[in-house]
Amino acid sequence: MTLVVKVGGAAGNTLGPTLDDLAPRSDYVLVHGGSEEVDRLGDSLGRPSVFYTSPSGVVSRKSDPAHLEVVVLALAGKVQTAIVSALAARGVRAVGLSGVDGGLLSARRKEGAREVVDGRVLRVLDDWSGTIDSADPAVLRALLAAGMVPVVGPPAITAAGEVVNVDADRAAAAVAVAVGASDLLLLTNVPGLLRDPKDLTSVIRQVDRASVDEVLPLAAGRMRKKVLAAQDALRGGVPRVVIASSSGPSPVARALDGEGTVFR
Ligand code: ADP
Repeated sequence: MTLVVKVGGAAGNTLGPTLDDLAPRSDYVLVHGGSEEVDRLGDSLGRPSVFYTSPSGVVSRKSDPAHLEVVVLALAGKVQTAIVSALAARGVRAVGLSGVDGGLLSARRKEGAREVVDGRVLRVLDDWSGTIDSADPAVLRALLAAGMVPVVGPPAITAAGEVVNVDADRAAAAVAVAVGASDLLLLTNVPGLLRDPKDLTSVIRQVDRASVDEVLPLAAGRMRKKVLAAQDALRGGVPRVVIASSSGPSPVARALDGEGTVFR
């Protein structure tokens, strides 16, 4: 059974232990974000990241065309090449793919996104972010069958061939559904979904499929996307999703042992 592992890109994530853990396996797809690299590259190019909060409280990046260029350079360029080369150093033949390659991640451009500014709800203009509809497993299966590891990240592509920025956690969920994954591991810079985000010992150990909506209000900012991704994956038939820490030794093995927040 295939494992889908998503590695975080925000500060505080460590990649080495995850790759050490995965290297002996051959049955996985690695999905990555790279928010810190996008912010860093954007700053250095004089195009800093801009975020907005929707009326329902979800925080998203504004993806105007200039920012989308930064996303492609940072994710499909830098982050993905770094991961593929780090796997190569561990003897793994990996292939980097953005969601555009092989039509891997199909998305719809977000129409009518709204943001809250000073208590007022405004339309978000000229935004090239999208919502993932599905992932096509064909290219992933071909690579896995050839003994190669797919390394996948945003952006995605629309039916009209437009490139759109998408959330990497939701992308990981779509990939997990498409390949019929046994588990989706969302590895991040905290030990799981926390009852109190300031208390790292307050990890919620288990969430049943029926009670995801109950824990959603606890998840602020980008943790919310992980909980929504867990919900997407469960709804798509993935039996288990674990939000767990990327740091410390053997993060993959520990997440598979249920260390973190287990959604099932
Ligand atoms: P990554 O880059 O690893 O995907 P993000 O920064 O996107 O990570 O999301 C994880 C962050 O979500 C945590 O570092 C934390 O600041 C924030 N967060 C908000 N609410 C919670 C919560 N209830 N439990 C855990 N983390 C939370």
